Amino acid sequence: MPELTLTPEEARVLGALMEKSVTTPDGYPLSLNSLMTACNQTTNRDPVVKYDDQVVERTLDSLREKGLARRLKSAGQRVIKFRHVAGETLALDPGELAVIGVLLLRGPQTPGELKIRTERWHAFGALEDVEKTLQNLVAREFVVHLPRRAGQKEARWAQLLCEVAESPTAYVAPVEVVQPGTAASAAPAAVPLEPKPSRTLDVHNPADGSLLRTIEVDDERAVATKLERARRAQRAWAARPYEERAAALRRFREMLIAEIETFAATTTAEVGKPLNQSSGEIRGAGDRVDWFIAHVPNVLEPVAVTVRDDLEERVSYEPVGVVAHVSAWNYPYFVGLNSIVPALLAGNAVLYKPSEHATLTGLALVDLMHRAGVPVDVVQAVPGAGPTGAALVEADVDLVCFTGSHATGSKVAMAAAARLSRVQLELGGKDPAYVCDDVDVDNTAMAVAEGVFYNAGQSCCAIERVYVHERIWQPFLDAFVAIAEAYRVGDPTDDATDIGPLAREEQVAVLETQVQDALGKGAKLLLGGKRIDRPGHWFEPTVLVNVDNHMAVMREESFGPVIGVQRVANDDEAVRLMDDTPYGLTAAVFSTDRERATHVLEALDTGSVYWNCSDRTSVCLPWAGRRRSGLGVSLGEAGIRAFVREKAWHLRPA
Ligand code: NAD
Repeated sequence: MPELTLTPEEARVLGALMEKSVTTPDGYPLSLNSLMTACNQTTNRDPVVKYDDQVVERTLDSLREKGLARRLKSAGQRVIKFRHVAGETLALDPGELAVIGVLLLRGPQTPGELKIRTERWHAFGALEDVEKTLQNLVAREFVVHLPRRAGQKEARWAQLLCEVAESPTAYVAPVEVVQPGTAASAAPAAVPLEPKPSRTLDVHNPADGSLLRTIEVDDERAVATKLERARRAQRAWAARPYEERAAALRRFREMLIAEIETFAATTTAEVGKPLNQSSGEIRGAGDRVDWFIAHVPNVLEPVAVTVRDDLEERVSYEPVGVVAHVSAWNYPYFVGLNSIVPALLAGNAVLYKPSEHATLTGLALVDLMHRAGVPVDVVQAVPGAGPTGAALVEADVDLVCFTGSHATGSKVAMAAAARLSRVQLELGGKDPAYVCDDVDVDNTAMAVAEGVFYNAGQSCCAIERVYVHERIWQPFLDAFVAIAEAYRVGDPTDDATDIGPLAREEQVAVLETQVQDALGKGAKLLLGGKRIDRPGHWFEPTVLVNVDNHMAVMREESFGPVIGVQRVANDDEAVRLMDDTPYGLTAAVFSTDRERATHVLEALDTGSVYWNCSDRTSVCLPWAGRRRSGLGVSLGEAGIRAFVREKAWHLRPA
């Protein structure tokens, strides 16, 4: 590679200047406005970008520093114009300039494509002339010959001045919402016809099992390349004024809400979450982006801790560097953006591995960030399943943010420990709720059922065990079962649906095993208890009684619409049973007496506690699981500080 390295913005601005110098010589050199239009053209550009004048102006400054562009102001003219001097600086002849220019603007191409696309730049006589030019450029390390991909007849060539990440839109188009079980969903029209590349991930619709997309996944080498790019881009991103970083994220949030229907449809199609729950999550995630944008500057303001004539002691905050975020699928917007947004605002670069069960959502989120103005190397998607996640957490990143199960989280912690890298773990729970004898039974049964069955029970902070005071045991149980029985299970694209399919096929078997284990140990089934016989991954809303803490259903995370309800004699027994768990994510108490509820909640070794509510997170509050539920803090002010390192300043006037 030549010593000179360009950022993606520099590559685009330089390429646009090179193109216009030959294709529209009358209008050349270009004003800032014409150059911005040339960069943002939607034809002959890959990827299509949306730069504003500030981006173009800043990029021109850096190209001038690298000796690749000049500004001109003719006498009597008010407008400043810009031209490139790549020919002189890089010693390229017109044919070489044409090839490099088109590669900068449109990414890797075959010699045939290059010949056609350089026609207005330079008259290559024959294909061999293009190939000869490419060989000359190879010798000078300006271009490289890429290996042929499956399904491609001709190999492609890429320029080496700038490593531009492939736009995720290359992989993903919006997923059309289809009714499960209909002919449209059974015949997956969106599946590419080309032969599948060898390392791929199939994304299925859990509502009917149909194939939605096939995605090429990243391996160790791809992760290493992305990490190198991220590391190079991070410093420039951190050096930008906070307001510029915030403006890009603000635009991202506006575009996310503007495109809410497409995003919700994509998530519902691949995760199975009812459409109104997908939209609700997106709106909530938008509010979180606003909160982070408003709070990051105050939280990261340097602090003077000692101010004397002979000594000043200060603390300042610097980004950690490159953050890897390995995500879960159940709330892809909350889980992803809780890390990505504060990390970017604090000046980090992010490598984001979406869950294999929410890959299309993850790729679309990263694409939207690029369209909103976050540089392509500063936030990059790393698609794939477990092996890709393992490659990412074993790479030399500075902080790993992981959300997922305790089993995977332990492996991630070990990989991070081997490199002494910082790690944040948001893991599962077995969250209890206690219903006291002073409640309004019907309202409380409704609230508890919502906490159990929302998102088909696939929330990390869903109620997973219910303890009910014996004085209201029967009326509560009757009301609770009636509510669970009335839930509408079915097509997640239907507004009337309460409970959709499970996102993962394996979980159906986990639930069956838990129910069988409980029944074998003396539990009684009041509702449901088995898989629903239809294509996709479905389980009946299930209520078990006569349960105890020896049964898997009361000890291990169910992550589905299955609940055990147990009678208790008093508050002390409730506290003992609630805390009898290796997890410590959340716990809820329902009571009209705040003091009584507080007394119970104070006794529990749990990161978040709820009075008369459940299954919620708040961007203003720290989110920190204890014991097997996690390590570190996300959300709230502490969740912003997670993405910076402190620097201690000891200052003595001479
Ligand atoms: P999972 O552990 O199966 O997978 C999580 C992520 O880890 C996925 O992206 C997966 O591809 C990746 N992965 C798998 N093997 C890996 C390895 N060896 N190294 C690195 N990465 C690897 O969990 P899941 O099914 O995606 O999510 C469900 C779990 O997440 C539940 O336990 C739920 O409670 C938990 N969760 C917790 C929170 C929280 O805030 N505490 C939030 C959402 C979900």
